[in-house]
Amino acid sequence: MTDGQTYGFDTLQIHAGARPDPATGARQTPIYQTTAYVFRDADHAAALFNLQEVGYIYSRLTNPTVAVLQERIATLEGGAGAVCCSSGHAAQIMSLFPLMEPGRNVVVSTRLYGGSITQFSQTIKRFGWKATFVDFDDLDAVRDAIDDDTRAVFCESIANPGGYITDIPAIAEISDAAGIPLIVDNTSATPYLCRPIDLGATLVVHSTTKYMTGNGTVTGGCIVDSGKFDWSANDKFPSLSQPEPAYHGLKFHETFGPLAYTFHGIAIGLRDLGMTMNPQAAHYTLMGIETLSLRMQRHVENAQKVASWLENDPRVEAVTYAGLKSSPYYDRIATVCPKGAGGLFTFAIKGGYEACVKLVNALEIFSHVANLGDTRSLVIHSASTTHRQLSPEQQEAAGASPNMVRISIGIEDTDDLIADLDQALTKASA
Ligand SMILES: *Cc1c(COP(=O)(O)O)cnc(C)c1O
Repeated sequence: MTDGQTYGFDTLQIHAGARPDPATGARQTPIYQTTAYVFRDADHAAALFNLQEVGYIYSRLTNPTVAVLQERIATLEGGAGAVCCSSGHAAQIMSLFPLMEPGRNVVVSTRLYGGSITQFSQTIKRFGWKATFVDFDDLDAVRDAIDDDTRAVFCESIANPGGYITDIPAIAEISDAAGIPLIVDNTSATPYLCRPIDLGATLVVHSTTKYMTGNGTVTGGCIVDSGKFDWSANDKFPSLSQPEPAYHGLKFHETFGPLAYTFHGIAIGLRDLGMTMNPQAAHYTLMGIETLSLRMQRHVENAQKVASWLENDPRVEAVTYAGLKSSPYYDRIATVCPKGAGGLFTFAIKGGYEACVKLVNALEIFSHVANLGDTRSLVIHSASTTHRQLSPEQQEAAGASPNMVRISIGIEDTDDLIADLDQALTKASA
């Protein structure tokens, strides 16, 4: 299947990138548990190393099983190419790597996965990079935060922890005007619910650990390039527009056109940072992706029912799910994620911190874990775990107040999920 655009999502999630194994005819994609690939001769080897010919050299850069997953995700996102890597956090570093230099900054949303807040506010400083955090509902603030050293804008489509929906077209317009790429973390939505590239994003990153794999078995990440950004339009992106010393002065954008960023991600990013996805992980994720649309439909259906039930319960103070008419984000669903608002949201309960701790301890089907996007329903009390080190003001700004819990709704029977929440709320309010 090469002409992906003519098929529907449900067909592509099973077939894109895959073909019967040329050696054996095996119908399912084999796990190429292999490190190195034989060169036809010395000229072939030289052409591969010079990037004059595309092929397999060594699995830190490319592997046939991982390659199928890359093509599958690129197709589902409507991108030109994709690079898989070892985790979602690796994908975030890999996505910024070709764009950034010491002294440069990235403008990021305040509403992000907890681990991403730490990665951007602390760890990237070691590279001489900086993140400026802004409320992405305040478009003027986003515009004002961009300066001459800004090299990217970063947000989540359906954002943590409350399932908030980012106005991607409005943010894309701002980054376009500034001549810099918009990177959207599409982990919580998946390409089934949201297609950031169609809405104007340049790059999409994923933690494939979550819904894409779907069952809590492997960590992985992916960066998808739209192939639409003109890296040579200004002098901000020398890694892509200027001669690359490690490849005899080759210019990535001039040589590879819409695939420049993808080739850079493999030939420089994976080669030198080594954050490679292993073939076993690619296999598990390929298995998961085959049922992505079916699972996402159920996640959304269940989240909608559970959120509505919670909203009408007197023991509950507030529910953030964007699929509820009471949500300030409800109106964005039609443009940003027309097939539903996802499976992730927070709710506040009466009784504050103590009651939340009792609630998570009392839940039986919901597991208390720092994860999301599993077939299993998950819960976390952020204030006593992931956001424990923050001040009360910071907790509030992050949507992790002491009286709130975050839930990731699985694909179990909703009657069972509601019964579990009901008994735990009774214990929490006792
Ligand atoms: C989990 C997650 C990440 C980080 O991914 P890992 O695979 O855990 O490294 C990044 N963004 C979002 C939205 C996530 O949910």
